[in-house]
Amino acid sequence: MKQKETSLNTLPETDPMKNNSGKKKNLGNEHIGTLTSTPMRDDAFDLNDQQKIKKIAFHFNAIMETLGLDMTDDSLSGTPLRVANMYVNEIFSGLDPGNFPDTTLFENRYNYGEMIVEKNITFFSNCEHHFVPIYGKVHVAYFSSDKVIGLSKINRIVQYFAKRPQVQERLTMQIAEKMKSVLDTEHVAVIVDATHLCVSSRGVGDTNSQTGTAHFNGKFKDEIIKKEFLNYINAIT
Ligand SMILES: [Zn+2]
Repeated sequence: MKQKETSLNTLPETDPMKNNSGKKKNLGNEHIGTLTSTPMRDDAFDLNDQQKIKKIAFHFNAIMETLGLDMTDDSLSGTPLRVANMYVNEIFSGLDPGNFPDTTLFENRYNYGEMIVEKNITFFSNCEHHFVPIYGKVHVAYFSSDKVIGLSKINRIVQYFAKRPQVQERLTMQIAEKMKSVLDTEHVAVIVDATHLCVSSRGVGDTNSQTGTAHFNGKFKDEIIKKEFLNYINAIT
């Protein structure tokens, strides 16, 4: 049997007619992103969700057919629509800014001046180079200006950005940038610790490696503050 590793660099653009923004970068097979914002076209929302689901189901059906699957089989016939629904309504719902969660802020009534840490936030995302899962934990910390955010809202911000085709570096930055703007503070730290199934379930097949990314801003650039945050994350609870 012939085995072949295909480099993404050699694949043609899937839809050259639509790729007219000139902003797309070919990142090849590397997990390194250069833009904080997810690259999207200006016409990204010309189709509504129902139209997108219909179109994705049509194309996913073609993929399955191309693989030689019998699409009249009971077990397979509903898969294209299931995948399309899952893409639009669940795992890629964070592409739609309309799905950004309400972020209720409260007055910092107690004048709490120490860092606030939300650790071990579970997330599930998908690698944009292979469309297979990335999952892991996010740890977020900030120093309040005069506002504090409901803790569950931090989880929701993480989930929102995770529900996109992602690279881990961009996910880290997007969470950090949003925390800064929502809380109106520069003092934000984000650490993402993740497993990439494109590394563990295919490719090199390494089931043990994890990828860490971090963003430290404001006071968190101070070594003592940074250490306090890291100690807190590593503390056994
Ligand atoms: Zn990947």
